[in-house]
Amino acid sequence: MNILVINCGSSSLKYQLIDMDKKEVLAKGLAERIGIEGGRVKYEAAGKDEIVIEEMLADHKAALKIVLDSLKHEDYGAVKSLDEIDAVGHRVVHGGEAFAESVVIDEKVMQAINDNVEIAPLHNPPNIIGIEACKEIMGDVPMVAVFDTAFHQSIPELNYIYALPYEYYENYKVRRYGFHGTSHQYITERAAEMLDKDLNEVNLITCHLGNGSSISAVKGGKCFDTSMGFTPLEGLAMGTRSGDLDPAIIPFIMDKEKLSTEEMNNVLNKKSGVLGVSGVSSDFRDLEEAAEKGNDRAQLALDIFENRVRKYIGAYLTEMDHCDGIIFTAGVGENSITTRERVVDGLKSLGVEIDKEKNNMRGKEAVVSTDASSIPVLVIPTNEELKIAMETAKLV
Ligand code: ADP
Repeated sequence: MNILVINCGSSSLKYQLIDMDKKEVLAKGLAERIGIEGGRVKYEAAGKDEIVIEEMLADHKAALKIVLDSLKHEDYGAVKSLDEIDAVGHRVVHGGEAFAESVVIDEKVMQAINDNVEIAPLHNPPNIIGIEACKEIMGDVPMVAVFDTAFHQSIPELNYIYALPYEYYENYKVRRYGFHGTSHQYITERAAEMLDKDLNEVNLITCHLGNGSSISAVKGGKCFDTSMGFTPLEGLAMGTRSGDLDPAIIPFIMDKEKLSTEEMNNVLNKKSGVLGVSGVSSDFRDLEEAAEKGNDRAQLALDIFENRVRKYIGAYLTEMDHCDGIIFTAGVGENSITTRERVVDGLKSLGVEIDKEKNNMRGKEAVVSTDASSIPVLVIPTNEELKIAMETAKLV
């Protein structure tokens, strides 16, 4: 069975065609700058060179058409005809309270995704456009929506209700939703396998540390708490997002700098985090390089990031009676040897111990703690596309 996985952003469309029998990627790529000058589609079939098609992409449908033409191209295609694509799995950011699991897309599902636009105005509209473009071009091929929020729907009231007037939850659906759920779920399932534990019994702290970052407390294989909230802005300090702060700072700065809500939102989402503190970059490689050369603010940004990761791990340990593993994933979690080392070094009082030799690797599944560590520490590269394809295959 071949599954096409689609992840639509406002001006981009990422895709992978996955052979589910072999769990192999047949082709993957990205359409960029949709609707603006300089459109291009990158396409790479397994074992072949990358091809770049430069062309104005009027909309997502135009981009998808080029992707599908490339997939069945007689020279560099991955399939002979589109009939060989059995289903499409769509990443949808916000399922709200309507979806605790992936679903086959029908009219009712589309309505529910549309209903969530109010609470996810930036994320859901491009996802809807992607689904509609696929429907127009691919007709009756079954399609599945896989939600970033679904895994977090098991979080109890205790952790999803904010200490605000309760009617804001009732009237405006203001509550914790959490994001990166597909990734947290994928690494939870892999960790249970690696630790040889029953999924329904495994307790974990999963750390998705990338450009956007979140940590989850997983109890009995289900999400119990997560650091992102009503939007992806809460929790850890991120590449460009502030994460947790005193809410009173927001009206204070808006007054001082005469900012509109949109401008303030932009500061919190795009100009804060490790970029805002360092003034250097949102990219952790740049920060590590600058810090090594003696840039104090780059070092401070890394210190703040790592300290907050530790504080969340500490807090989440108090939400479970035992922990079977602390898992690192995503760009920074998989690749930054120093971040993992410094985060875990701060957990010594809890008996958690990193093995420097085992930790000296990037991007591979491994246990990186010592045998004596009170809790095993694992690195598990995330694979959201494969998880979306697995969910899709299961449902169709
Ligand atoms: P997203 O999917 O949220 O855009 P990723 O999970 O791809 O982000 O993570 C991107 C981050 O991972 C970047 O800040 C990048 O610097 C960091 N990263 C990638 N490789 C390394 C590395 N070798 N050392 C440190 N950080 C790295």
